[in-house]
Amino acid sequence: MTERAWPGDWADRMAGKDCPLCGALGKGDDDFSVGVCAGEVAEVRLERRTRLPGYCVVVWRLGHVAEPTDLDPGQAGRYWAEVLAVGRAVRARFSPVKMNYMTLGNTVPHLHTHVLPRYRDDPAPGGPIEWRQIHAPDPAPDAELRRQAADLRALLDR
Ligand SMILES: [Zn+2]
Repeated sequence: MTERAWPGDWADRMAGKDCPLCGALGKGDDDFSVGVCAGEVAEVRLERRTRLPGYCVVVWRLGHVAEPTDLDPGQAGRYWAEVLAVGRAVRARFSPVKMNYMTLGNTVPHLHTHVLPRYRDDPAPGGPIEWRQIHAPDPAPDAELRRQAADLRALLDR
């Protein structure tokens, strides 16, 4: 068994040094995801490679913050409200059997939440899904992703 350890530069990562999410904010589509929209405090991205269509990541967009507890209560309330709005939109658009919300940050400690639709025929019915089961090797077709992102954007604009 491989011994696991926090990366040697963990304190720097927590502080936001070379943070890849800070670097990606506001830049729109990239190789991993399609931009959906930006709310008051968070940005929404739709993942390109996943076995769970509609899987979005909500990213705190007002500077580097590692923990939701680093936000003041008003900011934190706003963040979770935006996360839940995305969950509501994903649920309406994709009709999953359950929604999961994962706020981890164990690799990139910049506040973000994985908004995961769970499906009847998904890889881990009735329980938590493993990280490797969420992702797919190949991206969904670009046109389909853009249609999905536009639908989510319209639902979030309401
Ligand atoms: Zn950051």
